[in-house]
Amino acid sequence: MANGLLETLTAKFNDMNNQSNMSKVLAFLSESRFCTDCDTRIRFGDIDCPHCGFDLEDLYMQWANKLLNELNWEDEN
Ligand SMILES: [Zn+2]
Repeated sequence: MANGLLETLTAKFNDMNNQSNMSKVLAFLSESRFCTDCDTRIRFGDIDCPHCGFDLEDLYMQWANKLLNELNWEDEN
């Protein structure tokens, strides 16, 4: 679920001392996202689309993977 993902990301944030990575995360979270089904703008934290009710879990997983790649966490761990 998206809430579990958010908790995981928050735990990662708390482990981070790198200001550059923190800036990347904040920029990432502030980017606009859009429902893959109806293109409604999504705010981070929405579990499903406020317009059509589309389940956004897959979208969050894609965001998380992209963020992890940007921060190279997969390489370090
Ligand atoms: Zn939608």
